[in-house]
Amino acid sequence: MRLLPRLFDFLAPRTCAACRRDLPLLVAGPLCGDCLALARPETGPRCRRCGVADDSPARLCRRCRSRLFAVDCIRAAFAYRPPVRELLHAFKYRGRLDAGRLLAGWMAGLLSRHPELGRPLAVVCVPLHPGRLRERGFNQAEWLARAVAAAARLPLQEGLRRVKKTRAQWGLSRRERGANLEGAFAWAGARPARRVLLVDDVCTSGSTLEACARALQAAGAEDIRAFVLARD
Ligand SMILES: [Zn+2]
Ligand SMILES: [Zn+2]
Repeated sequence: MRLLPRLFDFLAPRTCAACRRDLPLLVAGPLCGDCLALARPETGPRCRRCGVADDSPARLCRRCRSRLFAVDCIRAAFAYRPPVRELLHAFKYRGRLDAGRLLAGWMAGLLSRHPELGRPLAVVCVPLHPGRLRERGFNQAEWLARAVAAAARLPLQEGLRRVKKTRAQWGLSRRERGANLEGAFAWAGARPARRVLLVDDVCTSGSTLEACARALQAAGAEDIRAFVLARD
């Protein structure tokens, strides 16, 4: 039965997962050469805590200067723009697993460029609500986290749960995002590692990571940093 999807793969039009143009015969995909050339990791001066572009002398953005966070450090492999944004959409919303594999591989390969992420003892992924997981069939953050954990030779620790179905975060102010996620996550099971690397696909305001980190802290984790595929 494994042959059938393979055969279908072969017969289905092969398109670039980002721009959706047909792929030339000899291009393996999931990206065409033009889209592949656009893929560039994040560079430039950043806030040393949250990783947003920041060229202040202290390398600490206004927001990070003004309060304390449960997540000690956030780093993104890429900016949320083409082709990473399109690849992620193809993966999440059109089920292009080849796009997911490419992103996971890229992210895992870029981990070593961010020594500020410290020396975690385990990787934990941001969970989807069970209903959303059933709909989609997979958790994109878990795919990424598995690749990152394998590259860093760390265990992927399970136990973080989304216990409250929340509204979509976009369109909400930063304050509303925080309130929306209040009590959304909880840790269940064996105690989390003392130093945890949280993994998610996209970071916008950082509220989701912060809510996850608070649940991890409540369960006993002490040092929580986060690595995301892309920063919006
Ligand atoms: Zn393309
Ligand atoms: Zn900051």
